Amino acid sequence: MTKQELIKERRSQEWRTELRKAHPNKERIAYERTKMSELPIAERITSFHEEVSLGYTREEAMAEARRCLDCPTPGCVEGCPVGIHIPSFIKLIEKGEMLEAVGIIRETSSLPAVCGRVCPQEKQCESQCIYTLSLKKQAVSIGNLERYVADYERMHRAKNAAPKASSQPKLGRIAVVGSGPAGLSFATDMAKWGYEVTVYEALSQLGGVLRYGIPEFCLPNSIIEDELDKMRELGVTFQTNTTFGQTLTYDDLKAQGVDGVFIATGVGVPNAMGIPGEDLTGVYTASEYLAKYNLMSPEELSEALPELQGKRVAVIGGGNTAIDAVRTALRLGAKQATIVYRRSEEEMPARAEEIKHAREEGTEFFNLHNPVEYLGDESGHIVAMRLERMELGAPDESGRRRPVATGEVVTMPVDEVVTCIGYSAGREVADSMPDLEVSRWGNILVDDSKQTSIPDVYAGGDIVRGAATVILAMGDGRRAATAMHQKLSGRIEEGALV
Ligand code: FAD
Ligand code: SF4
Repeated sequence: MTKQELIKERRSQEWRTELRKAHPNKERIAYERTKMSELPIAERITSFHEEVSLGYTREEAMAEARRCLDCPTPGCVEGCPVGIHIPSFIKLIEKGEMLEAVGIIRETSSLPAVCGRVCPQEKQCESQCIYTLSLKKQAVSIGNLERYVADYERMHRAKNAAPKASSQPKLGRIAVVGSGPAGLSFATDMAKWGYEVTVYEALSQLGGVLRYGIPEFCLPNSIIEDELDKMRELGVTFQTNTTFGQTLTYDDLKAQGVDGVFIATGVGVPNAMGIPGEDLTGVYTASEYLAKYNLMSPEELSEALPELQGKRVAVIGGGNTAIDAVRTALRLGAKQATIVYRRSEEEMPARAEEIKHAREEGTEFFNLHNPVEYLGDESGHIVAMRLERMELGAPDESGRRRPVATGEVVTMPVDEVVTCIGYSAGREVADSMPDLEVSRWGNILVDDSKQTSIPDVYAGGDIVRGAATVILAMGDGRRAATAMHQKLSGRIEEGALV
């Protein structure tokens, strides 16, 4: 059955037809989008670990689900990078069947509690909702509903209802390199389908950017831990502090009898601007800055806080990383925390909710400026930066208007700068595998099934796409698992992402 046929079949179930009749569209459209409660601002900026968005209550989720018109041709599904059957899960929420609703999401997404928190829904599913496109009203809050049912599942599903490792003989041995969303999604599917799966991670903690990049006030570690526990129950094993290409090689894995390898090492090398002063003390990359504080325990953080307070911190960039860094600076006690971005706010790639939160928490935005030099004192510590004013020109290949330098320069005093201007691929994996084809930027080249130039090696996520998003990384992991399983066993399982 095709995706369209399944969507149609589900929509024509009797209970859904009755539900549509129970509340005519005119009534549904009249409801306003249900707001999500948030931690009060004063509490937010003193807490590094407490989540800002607090989630819907059951009543709020059911009220928001009622707004969905259960469209015959739902644009929202087309806008979702992994094609979640959105109206099917939303109508189950309206009916009050929360575990069934999350079951629909899990058919295509292995990390709903994560995606419900960090996906840029306003640019994906919600941008294609009929409310946005035709009714010119706020879209159904698909992301908040996804988050609600995923959290409900975490709190209500009996421990013994989680999928268990099969007791059948294993179909083969699989190695996954990298424990970010791509690696975790791939590992989950392969373990479910009967393989012995080991995930190798270079760092001491698991989760990739979900753990060391995205701060806890956006994505609590307990959510990542919960997903990892589910995977351990499925029989997945994890080996941290293991750098593939250095302490472990492809030849080692082959010698151990591994049947397939999935590489999901992300893009961890921060880009530099190549301007004078980048090596001054007090100029950090986003990875240094965010990972340092994200990996600290609350005790370590409270010890570090006194010397971080009262600083003027400027963050260069307009993506999620920049917004996470500036909000981190505020929580570390910065007296001034400023985003410096070379385009206008309209072009910022960061999620709209994050920009809103950053502004509420006191972030200043200095748009249409780009650093040209960092200035230091005699001890080599940054004290100021020179910023060139930019104007917007014609759109570039990303569709956003290109920043054009004007030659006008201003000087801004600063105590710390965090540069968040993108990431590139590391070289250790490619250097250790001469037959692995990579682009000139170091991204691994794959075909549609995510297979690389080495037949038993697949790859996905940021290491293939360049810096992208959690949902795309997760979708790559699931597609690679489908293809590798089909190659090894000749089967495509029900629920596989093809
Ligand atoms: P990663 O998550 O990068 O994981 C790769 C893992 O591989 C890492 O744990 C790394 O340590 C490990 N590794 C690397 N090399 C080796 C090696 N040689 N051997 C073993 N292990 C290795 N996206 C969103 O959708 N929403 C957001 O709000 C959002 N916010 C972000 C905030 C920040 C600060 C950053 C940096 C990114 C953000 N992104 C966001 C992007 C998103 O996190 C990434 O697109 C996604 O995590 C990519 O997943 P991945 O599995 O490909 O790689
Ligand atoms: Fe519901 Fe909007 Fe999707 Fe229509 S497009 S089914 S209203 S979420």
